[in-house]
Amino acid sequence: MPCDSPVIIWFRRDLRLGDHAALSYAAATERPVVPVFIHDEVVGALGAAPKFRLGLGLSEFSRKLKDIGSRLILRRGDALGALRNLIAETGAGTVVWQRAYDPRSVARDRTLKPALESAGVEVHVFPGHVLFEPWTVRTQSGGPYNVFTPFWRAVRNLDPGSSFPSVTRLRPCEAWPSSDPLDSWKMDFAMQRGRAVVARHAVVGEAAALNRLERFMNDGIEGYGSQRDVPGVDGTSRMSEHLAVGEISARTVWSALKAAQEIGCGAEDFLRELVWREFAWHLLFHAPHMADSNWKPAWSNFPWNEDESAAEVLAWQRGRTGIEFVDAAMRELMVTGYMHNRARMVVASYLTKHLMTHWRIGLRWFENHLIDWDPASNALGWQWSAGSGPDAAPYFRILNPERQLARFDADRVYVRKWIAEGQSSPPRTALEYFDAIPKSWEMTADTPYPQPIVPVGEGRARALKAYSEMRS
Ligand SMILES: Cc1cc2nc3c(=O)[nH]c(=O)nc-3n(C[C@H](O)[C@H](O)[C@H](O)COP(=O)(O)OP(=O)(O)OC[C@H]3O[C@@H](n4cnc5c(N)ncnc54)[C@H](O)[C@@H]3O)c2cc1C
Repeated sequence: MPCDSPVIIWFRRDLRLGDHAALSYAAATERPVVPVFIHDEVVGALGAAPKFRLGLGLSEFSRKLKDIGSRLILRRGDALGALRNLIAETGAGTVVWQRAYDPRSVARDRTLKPALESAGVEVHVFPGHVLFEPWTVRTQSGGPYNVFTPFWRAVRNLDPGSSFPSVTRLRPCEAWPSSDPLDSWKMDFAMQRGRAVVARHAVVGEAAALNRLERFMNDGIEGYGSQRDVPGVDGTSRMSEHLAVGEISARTVWSALKAAQEIGCGAEDFLRELVWREFAWHLLFHAPHMADSNWKPAWSNFPWNEDESAAEVLAWQRGRTGIEFVDAAMRELMVTGYMHNRARMVVASYLTKHLMTHWRIGLRWFENHLIDWDPASNALGWQWSAGSGPDAAPYFRILNPERQLARFDADRVYVRKWIAEGQSSPPRTALEYFDAIPKSWEMTADTPYPQPIVPVGEGRARALKAYSEMRS
């Protein structure tokens, strides 16, 4: 390539300067670098909250690139067309990016790379947002792992390699190509009233991610094993919102954990959770149908409710089931765009078992409301909870949300934090819920709290009956 022909770096869900293989490569060429983000059909298909959070991430990342003398070019349209235009406008001879593993991105990239190459453009693709490329972790018989524990044993002592140092300078273009204003993309549009509320709780950017990790490694990691299931305390790392848009790499988190392990800090539990994320991505890569179809085909015979407008589904979505753990969790989601892992398990179990509603309805709700939405972990989480997934919880083990509450929120800290009804002076968090939800729901803090729409014992018995009929 001519020594002055620019290198285009196409950012996708990897909005950071540190541990970025493609960016490090581009910087090392010492040629002008054109950073671009493309609002293509993959971005267009994002749910409301993930798209909103991505918009916040892009805004912060643009600032970061300016700090190192560069700028983020924003383009809208199909990715191949956008890249071809940029190549024509800048004279770039090389395009680089980091791999994505979700079915939509894989399909897009599969045609895009050869199309660029056949036009004489040099393309370099680097490993993406997993620790290990999905085709490199294999069982003895050569296939991918479908069960977590052997997968965990296979990867826990592998080495994902060293992190790339943070890029501190990018050679700018002599004449920058035009860029869409980020505002014109209206990434927050579908959030409606929720945008202002959720924005207060989002923590955005690479520096914030690294700060959070450092704080957690100093103060949180030792208690993680005992605190991670308690939704009323700040006992988990909150890395998910950053990992979802790549403000931190999984390898950076892994390296911090490995260092903690060496000094005996009990980071094993945390490492295991990070490997659940990895497991989910490997599964999704090898079996993309997991995102919307039962992993175990027998489950297509289960009599799920598939009506999204059913009264029980609306009550679940609105935090009005009368089951406190479920309602607190659904409100946490509306206010913060996040839900504690134990709470995710409880609401997923209640929807799919007590309410016998198809897991896809819950999956779509999360896909629209989580700022840490991750297609792989979400699909695995839902199918695991429903019983239809790989290595799933056995169906007959139905989480009892009342017992879960007594066990994990014995002091009712979580319930009080999120449910205003019945409290004489509810905390700000519980009241914020009424600012976040659509006005059409017609809910206020004075509305009486409902009785259970489906009592726990009744729902459990109904689900078990349907399950045993399916099996027979
Ligand atoms: C029904 C359901 C849906 C879910 N949907 C998502 C989703 O869309 N996005 C998402 O990131 N996670 C999802 N999870 C997994 C988990 O709830 C979140 O990763 C976790 O709550 C994030 O909080 P944290 O970063 O504080 O986690 P920590 O406990 O601090 O864990 C550290 C990291 O490990 C990973 N991790 C932890 N638990 C899991 C898990 N059970 N499965 C996969 N990875 C895990 C995450 O990357 C997390 O950031 C889902 C779980 C369930 C049961």
